[in-house]
Amino acid sequence: MKKKLLTVAVTGALLTTGGLIPGSGTVLAGDNGANGPNYNGNETIKNERLHSYEEMADFLHKLDQRSEALELEVYGQSVKGRDLYLAKFGAMDEDKPTVLFLTQQHGNETLTTEGALQVIKHLTSNGKNVKNILENVNVLIAPRLNVDGAEGDVNFSLDDYVSGTHTRYNANGVDLNRDHVDREQPETKALHEEVLQKYSPDYMIDLHHQGTQVTLGDTGELVSGSILYPTNSEVDPEVREQSKKLGAVVYNAVESKGYGLLSKYPGGTAQTISRNGLAAEYGISTLLFEMRGMADHYREDYVLGQKSNGYLIQQAVTAMTATLEALADGSLESADPSFWDTLPESNYDGE
Ligand SMILES: [Zn+2]
Repeated sequence: MKKKLLTVAVTGALLTTGGLIPGSGTVLAGDNGANGPNYNGNETIKNERLHSYEEMADFLHKLDQRSEALELEVYGQSVKGRDLYLAKFGAMDEDKPTVLFLTQQHGNETLTTEGALQVIKHLTSNGKNVKNILENVNVLIAPRLNVDGAEGDVNFSLDDYVSGTHTRYNANGVDLNRDHVDREQPETKALHEEVLQKYSPDYMIDLHHQGTQVTLGDTGELVSGSILYPTNSEVDPEVREQSKKLGAVVYNAVESKGYGLLSKYPGGTAQTISRNGLAAEYGISTLLFEMRGMADHYREDYVLGQKSNGYLIQQAVTAMTATLEALADGSLESADPSFWDTLPESNYDGE
C-alpha cells in the first residue's frame, strides 16, 4: 500500500485571488506555510508556491550572486522578450559527462520547473554528494523554455482553459516540442544554438506533465509518471541503449519512493520532438519524463489539484538527482535497461 500523502500545497493563484481561506477568516501571508486551520488540523500545509517568471528570475539571480559553483547564463529571449535562463555547474570539461535537464517546453507543465529550481538550489549548497557531483559531471539546467506560455502571455485567447493562466503553446501558438527540426521559434532556436550546439550534452532529460487518468497498462492503477527513450529510426542504436540505461536509473530511483509508479509513455517517432530529434541530430541520450497532471488545460480532467504538488515536485527532483549521482559515480554504465522489455505502456482510464 502506498503511504498516505499529507502534503497540501498553497499556490500563488490562491494568494493572488485574495488568499482568504473560506470560513476561517485567515489570510495566508507570503511564504508562511505553517499549519493551517482548514486542513483538518492534522495535515501539514507545505507551501509549494509556483514561481512566476519574475520570481523564478529573481530566485536564480539571488543564487547566482551567492554561489561560486553556479554560473547563470541568459541564452536567448522568448517571443515576448523574456530572458531564457541556463544554470551551469562545472567547467564544461570535455572529459566529463555533460547532462541537460530541460523543463516546461509546454507552459502549463509547471511542477517540472519547481523541481529544477530545487535541484539548482541544492547544487549551490554544501549538501552531501554535491561536491562529488560537481567534480565529476557538467550540469546544465534549462528551466521553463516556454516562459510566455507559462505566464499566459500569448497572442491568442485562453478563454477555453480551466483557469486561463497557462498554456502548452508559446506566444505564437506553436508547440515548442514539435519545433526541434525547423527551429522557427526563438525559444527552440536559442536552445539549439546557444545550449545544445555550444555545450554538446551527452544526456538530456526532458520533463513534462500528462493527464491525470493514466494507468499502468490495463491494471487501473494510476501512475505517478511515464517515461520513454528515443524511438526515431535515425537514432544510433548505442545512443538508444544509453538512453535506456538513463531510464533505468530514473525508474529505479522513482519506484523506490512510496509515490512512485511509472509506465512506458506511448510516444511517437517524429524527429520534431526533442526526445527523438536531439538523439538523432546530436547523439544525445535522451529520456522523456511525463509527470502526472498539469496546472491548466482546456480539458478539466487533465488539471490536478494542488494536493499532489509536493510529491510530483519530489519525483522530478528524484529523477534529476539520481541521474547526477549515477553519472558522478559511473553507475549509469552498469544500469540494467532490461526492465523496459516488461514495463507496461500507459493506458487511459475512462477514455
Ligand atoms: Zn509536455
